[in-house]
Amino acid sequence: MTRIRLENLRKSFGDVDVVHGLDLEIEDGSFVALVGPSGCGKSTILRMIAGLEDITSGSIYFDDQRVNDAEPKARNVAMVFQNYALYPHITVRENIGLNLHISKFPKAEIDRLVNEAAAMLELQDLLDRRPAQLSGGQRQRVAMGRAMVRKPSVFLFDEPLSNLDAKLRVQMRAEIKHFHKSMQRTSIYVTHDQIEAMTLADKVVVLRKGRIEQAGDPISLYESPQNVFVAQFIGSPA
Ligand code: ADP
Ligand code: MG
Repeated sequence: MTRIRLENLRKSFGDVDVVHGLDLEIEDGSFVALVGPSGCGKSTILRMIAGLEDITSGSIYFDDQRVNDAEPKARNVAMVFQNYALYPHITVRENIGLNLHISKFPKAEIDRLVNEAAAMLELQDLLDRRPAQLSGGQRQRVAMGRAMVRKPSVFLFDEPLSNLDAKLRVQMRAEIKHFHKSMQRTSIYVTHDQIEAMTLADKVVVLRKGRIEQAGDPISLYESPQNVFVAQFIGSPA
């Protein structure tokens, strides 16, 4: 079943076109990576899906419902960013529960959901710390915890690992894969790192200058790149 469908999606900033008529189908429960060089439009596409950026033309469908004008909240998506967006002055527990507080969930329910997320992400012993007392990987897990407590139906990741060192990045890939499998939700994962995309995703979408060069499963992209750009991009080390 198709969970999200982009149809002839376009975005211009002023007279600069950054996304050119994108068509894409994202299956329910799949892990799709959008990969391409810096500036190719990955974050803009993700932000349009999240409802954080206006669409210039075209359509976005969630389960066959056109959501072009739907508020971000109504889309039931959660974003995980590279800079974590954690608040330094509050604890890990409060950071994870923040959106639930804002949505006025009852305290007992917040405690239950935060504890559940902390258990899954192995953050139980760190709940009373502040972000400054955590490692980069732990902070990233707190950001994932904050995204998961509202049980969104879609996770949107924007280069969540790009601030981490190489060793930790590799370790966190496995954690993100595990996270996706346990949550059983649709994940869209933006990265400029083709190895990350190839390791994580069921479907990899290679973008260049706001256009899809090729989309497919990692093996078919690796074995049958359709053009030199894809061959070089997929084949070159990070
Ligand atoms: P990526 O995430 O792939 O690095 P972005 O989606 O951030 O790329 O940006 C795509 C293009 O759109 C870039 O050329 C960028 O400079 C431009 N862009 C992004 N946001 C804005 C904005 N708010 N105003 C003007 N140009 C923007
Ligand atoms: Mg970006």
